[in-house]
Formats: sequence, C-alpha cells, structure tokens
Amino acid sequence: MKDLRLAGLNTERSTIEVNGVTIGGKEIILMGGPCAVESSIQMSQSAETVKKAGGKILRGGVFKPRTSPYSFQGLGQEGLNYLVQAAKEQDLLCVTEVIDTLSLELVADKVDIIQIGARNMQNFELLKLLGKITKPIILKRGLSATIEEWLLAAEYIMSAGNPRVILCERGIRTYEPSTRNTLDLSAVGVAKELSHLPVIVDPSHAAGRRDLISALAKAAVAVGADGLLIEMHPNPAKAASDGPQSLYPEQFVQLARELGKVAGSVNRVFVCGEQGDKETLESLRAQIDCIDQTLIESLAARMQIVRKVGDQKRLDRVKDASREKEIIQRLVNLGTELQLSPELIRKIYPLIFEFAVQSQIRNKLEKEKELSCYPIGSN
Ligand code: PEP
Ligand code: MN
Repeated sequence: MKDLRLAGLNTERSTIEVNGVTIGGKEIILMGGPCAVESSIQMSQSAETVKKAGGKILRGGVFKPRTSPYSFQGLGQEGLNYLVQAAKEQDLLCVTEVIDTLSLELVADKVDIIQIGARNMQNFELLKLLGKITKPIILKRGLSATIEEWLLAAEYIMSAGNPRVILCERGIRTYEPSTRNTLDLSAVGVAKELSHLPVIVDPSHAAGRRDLISALAKAAVAVGADGLLIEMHPNPAKAASDGPQSLYPEQFVQLARELGKVAGSVNRVFVCGEQGDKETLESLRAQIDCIDQTLIESLAARMQIVRKVGDQKRLDRVKDASREKEIIQRLVNLGTELQLSPELIRKIYPLIFEFAVQSQIRNKLEKEKELSCYPIGSN
C-alpha cells in the first residue's frame, strides 16, 4: 500500500468524538434520514424516527450530485435549515454532503459532520479544502475506487490538516445488474487492517433496493463496521430521490430493534431508542459495557504516559510516595462529590501505582540493557 503516512495503521484505532457521539468506539452509531431534504415536515418526521430507533445522526442531502442534470438537485440553503432544525428538535447530530467550495462554505458551521459523496472521492482540491477545517468528514468510497485509492483520498484530507476522517463503504460498480452496486463487505475488514480510521457502511446506495437493506446492515455490523448510514423516508413512494432504496420508518425502527443482538455477537453495542427509554436489563448492561471500555482505554492511555514519565526519572526515584498521596486525596475529593466511595479509590489507586512503577522500572532496565549492548564508541 502506497504511502499511508497518516491514515495507515500505526498504533491504535482512532475514535472520532463529535458533540457527545463517539464513532469508532464500542457502540455502533446509526445514522439515518432521507436521501434529499425536501421539506420541514419530512425532516421532522425523519428525525423522530431516527431518535426512536436509537440513531444518533440525521442525514439529508441538500446539494445533490445527481447522475442526470435533469434530476432533483437539492434545496440548498433552505434544505440545510430544515435539516439543522429537525436534528435540533430531537437532540441529534446531522450530516450533509458538500460538492464544492461554495457548498462547503455554506454548511461548514451548521452541521456536525460533512459528507463527501462517492462521485467526489477523488476531487482532490475539495479534499484539500476539507483538510483546512476541523469538522469530521465521512468519506465515501468512489464508484469504482480501489481500497488503496479510497485510503489515499483520506490521506489527502489528513495531510492537509484534518485527521477526523470516517471511511464509508457504499458499494462499488460491478457487472452485476440485480443490485445498484455491489456492497464490498470485505473492504470493511481490509480498510480496518490497513488504517486506523473508523469505517461505516451505507447499504442503501449499495443495494439500491429496500428489501436487502436490513440484512446488509446486519452483515456490515457483523463484519466490523463502526456505524451505518441508511436512507429512510417518511413516504418513500413520494421521495424526490432514491425512494426505492429508502426504508419506511417502521422498517428502520425494526432494523434497530434487531441490531443490538448482532452487535452483541461481535462484542459491540447498539441500543435501540425504545429500549434505551425503558432501561431494560439489556440496555443497562450495554451502557455498562460502553463505560467499561472507556475505563480500560483510559487506563491504557494512563500507562502509556506513565512510561514516558519514567524516561525522565532516575531509577532510584521511580516511586514518588508524596505524589501518590496527593493524587489519591484529589480523587477522593472528586469521588465524594460524585457520590463514589473513598474506599474504592483508596483500594484501586495503590494497585494502579504499583503497576505503573513496575512498568517504569521494566522499561528503564530494558533501555539500559539495550545501551549496554551498544557501548558508546563501538562500531
Ligand atoms: C448520498 O448519500 O445521498 C449519496 C449521493 O451517496 P453516494 O455518494 O454514495 O452515491
Ligand atoms: Mn441517495
């Protein structure tokens, strides 16, 4: 694979945090909404359904790059207002596609995530502009792009300064006419093997027909996708674009009801909105799983920093009892405010310190050993 200096898999997987939603963590992030924004009521109804399903992000195109110049091209600024307003009503985030400098300028401050469509995956000048902003970018795979070309497109955005790229597999063009495109599910695994970026799947543009969406969405989760981007319309028969592939609201919610089990089977979490409200045993446990993952990730990050701190200490000064006491006291105070037993902190932290000190000593001894293998002046 060519020169994936930033998108390439170096250390850990990236998670992208956007206004309270984490993409690439343990939770599967569901994004849904119509292909194109058509009216205020259509967007309010769509947002209600996304919320009910446990989705976190409302989609809707306002600048539509259509294959034919005579097809509906989107409502532009007016549509953007409907999208943003509907997302706000339901406390959702929103995503929309940009197609050029002008549309980027219009939406950049209004939406939470920006989408680059398949047709623009290799619009390199646009990709470079996306590197100048801080919003996360959903980068769809081009109609006939190889995985390498797709990752290099991500590299364009990242090397221009924006590391927050989410890859989206949306089907590629093949010789098979029974579906609109062919959903390349193995691309999810390959992209995750080659890069640290989160990968989501859009089964709607892959299949082009609603009867396959639910199964493909579940398959995507099973194969390791971090999220789903699915077209859903309050009245698909009347949709201005992509009606045949848009789910009915009930189908969207039904899919969400079934997604938790699939997610659980691959050690991920998805909580349908309805269940979330009811606080079932399953949904409470799902929330605990997410918190546990965050705890372990934070502990791992702490240990990494601890090793760096160790590099700056002398071997006989690795343990610093007064600093340990100070940390525990601060955390006991914080814990008390949060109704956490001081005993818990007094039990856990000495263990953390013990492992930290051991790891610093090990690290130092290893480094010293390496140095003694290559004494100064030897060749
Ligand atoms: C879309 O998401 O509405 C869209 C146009 O998708 P793609 O770029 O994948 O065709
Ligand atoms: Mn569409």
